[in-house]
Amino acid sequence: MERTAFNPELGHLEIQEKILAAIRAGRLPHAFLFYGNEGSGKDALAIELAKLLNCQKGPLHVCQRCPACQKIAHLQHPDVKFVFPIPGKKNVKVEEIIENLAEKAANPFRRIGFHGKNSFIAIDTVRELKREAKFKLYEGKKKVFIISDADQMQAPAANALLKILEECQLVHFPLLEGDVILKIIHKYQPETPANLAGIIRLAAGNIKLAFDFMQDNILEKRDQAVEFLRKIVVIEKKEPLINADIEENVGKFARAYPNVDFPFIISTVENAYQELGDPRNLNPTLIFLNLSIKLYQLIRNQS
Ligand SMILES: [Zn+2]
Repeated sequence: MERTAFNPELGHLEIQEKILAAIRAGRLPHAFLFYGNEGSGKDALAIELAKLLNCQKGPLHVCQRCPACQKIAHLQHPDVKFVFPIPGKKNVKVEEIIENLAEKAANPFRRIGFHGKNSFIAIDTVRELKREAKFKLYEGKKKVFIISDADQMQAPAANALLKILEECQLVHFPLLEGDVILKIIHKYQPETPANLAGIIRLAAGNIKLAFDFMQDNILEKRDQAVEFLRKIVVIEKKEPLINADIEENVGKFARAYPNVDFPFIISTVENAYQELGDPRNLNPTLIFLNLSIKLYQLIRNQS
């Protein structure tokens, strides 16, 4: 039977099938433009496509074991380049770029980048790629250049690629299916938080966001917020807190809203999170919107 996907774990089976069909027909385009929502697995599939085109057990197969597959997986293959937005050459250390690439290689679904710094793909980077494209192959079968977050390309950089972009094939990426996301998370993060289902729902199909949430430990923050509110209740009852710093902050907050019914706010927040944890509830955005409105009304009406 003919293969219909080169890596079923990554989802997007329809896209994979089309790529394989194009290779079989000898009509693989020179460039693809993968577009779609953030966190739909575009980088991961691009890296996999680079393996497909270079795997030594190929041509329609990704073995994951040969030196080519391994080097590409580590983003260390001399014929495969992965570029992403950086905050300008002067504002970034080479080690930082290498660190980011290592993170991307370790988990191609994770967000990489330079937190808070305005990043872009500059004309220099595109010029380097174009120069590189003229060199002979080092050891692979095909040179592959992956430009991640290509929408962060500066205008001159995009202009330099215009001819290629005009000829490229557009491929739309829908969001990944829930079961695919779950399997991917388990693969890249063996120790998952207890409320993984809640995190996935909160991320609304954006796997990058799901990994963000796990990294930031959003559920822990939620617990901290509820804990903070609880302390306000304690301080209102004039019971002493252990930590003086916390006591001062909580006290300030409590005094700012002297008439607010904090126990009621706590139960409102906790109810919203319970609704979120209920598998029948499929719309976290609505729950949060509802929660925000309720909290706003509570604080405004009572203070
Ligand atoms: Zn291989």
